[in-house]
Amino acid sequence: MSKTEPSSGRHEPSEEYALSLDAADPLCSERERFCIPGSTKGDQPIYFCGNSLGLMSKDVRQVIDQELKDWAELGVDGHFEGKTPWYSYHEVFRETAARLVGAKPGEVVMMNSLTINLHLMMVSFYRPTKQRYKILIDGPTFPSDIYAVKSQLQHHGFDPEDALVVAMPRTGEHTLRIEDIEAILEHQGEQIALLMAAGVNFFTGQVADMPALVSLARRFGCVVGFDLAHAAGNIPLQLHDWGPDFAVWCNYKYLNSGPGAVAGCFVHERHGQNSALNRFAGWWGNDPETRFKMHLLPDFVPQAGAEGWQISNPPILGLAPLQSSLAIFDRVGMPALRTKSELLTGYLQYLIQRMPNRNYEVITPNQPSERGCQLSILASQDPEQLFEALQARRIVGDFRRPNVIRVAPVPLYNTFHEVWRFANILAEQATKSS
Ligand SMILES: *Cc1c(COP(=O)(O)O)cnc(C)c1O
Repeated sequence: MSKTEPSSGRHEPSEEYALSLDAADPLCSERERFCIPGSTKGDQPIYFCGNSLGLMSKDVRQVIDQELKDWAELGVDGHFEGKTPWYSYHEVFRETAARLVGAKPGEVVMMNSLTINLHLMMVSFYRPTKQRYKILIDGPTFPSDIYAVKSQLQHHGFDPEDALVVAMPRTGEHTLRIEDIEAILEHQGEQIALLMAAGVNFFTGQVADMPALVSLARRFGCVVGFDLAHAAGNIPLQLHDWGPDFAVWCNYKYLNSGPGAVAGCFVHERHGQNSALNRFAGWWGNDPETRFKMHLLPDFVPQAGAEGWQISNPPILGLAPLQSSLAIFDRVGMPALRTKSELLTGYLQYLIQRMPNRNYEVITPNQPSERGCQLSILASQDPEQLFEALQARRIVGDFRRPNVIRVAPVPLYNTFHEVWRFANILAEQATKSS
């Protein structure tokens, strides 16, 4: 693949330069709002794992404490009299979550976990017929998504060997080309019921051209959904305008809402009022006006919009951290985060590309518009030993077998100086292994 280096020449390798970028960073004070793991004991760790589990913001304790207080002091009355009444708790995120993913307020809901939401969306939007029954998915695919998709195929009586189509990068390349997805659709588009794609690929960090995927899917009559696990809070999204049928994401990666946090779900407005859509129902998806009529009204009346896909009453203690998390994203705004992110990750790429050692290859696209925070570094020699050596130097990234190390400098709490330190440690390892 072409090695255009859009960022080289703009940066300098010195430590002073890294410090000057931090000094000029309008978001530099955000870091203080977060708990940085291990920073109390000696050697400062470098946390580049916000793509896996985002850090805890200090004000999370307060929002959880508030719910504990309401529970302690109000008991069941917390449903209507709590500071944020539990009965309508999910509605608190209508506006903030919509802004985060570029949706209209009724199009999003925070509920369940990502994979569960993916299943619920497939219940409604994967409606195979004898002729059109295949699912097209992009690769390399996150295991949970593959398991979910295969089990849905099997649930409908199809054999994944036949009915699952995975678009993979070409031999010798690491990332996907949209023309290859188009070619698959040209060939078997009339058999494909659903195109499911990652917004940002978990392995390579490649950003998908989501508007182009939606128009391709439309052209071939397929339903289209996105998994935004690595995209939400990482890159700007315009879900309403792009127009996928649905999207799902988790809130514990870039959104810092805590381990196993309640996830997000988007259902496009054009489906929001469609009560004929197949769905798995539960009382929380019912019209709130009649929800408590219980046995008096046994027929499910879905409420309009994404909220009509809720099933159970939400885990308030799991939802609470989203209040502080989304408040941060709302206050700082995706445009400012994205501006810093492109600079931060571009700087990391510049420092890696200057290393004479050819053991490292960044497989994430070079163009800032085609990637988010994460760089995936393919190490051709002794990748596991390299990763262990990085860990010993207190670098928190992760290793994806067989040979890829993922690091994600996050604009909310990582610094340019950390990127500089990381690059130096990586360069030292390179000299050792060459
Ligand atoms: C993180 C991630 C998941 C995790 O699924 P959960 O249901 O939240 O456990 C699923 N898919 C992708 C692509 C992910 O990156």
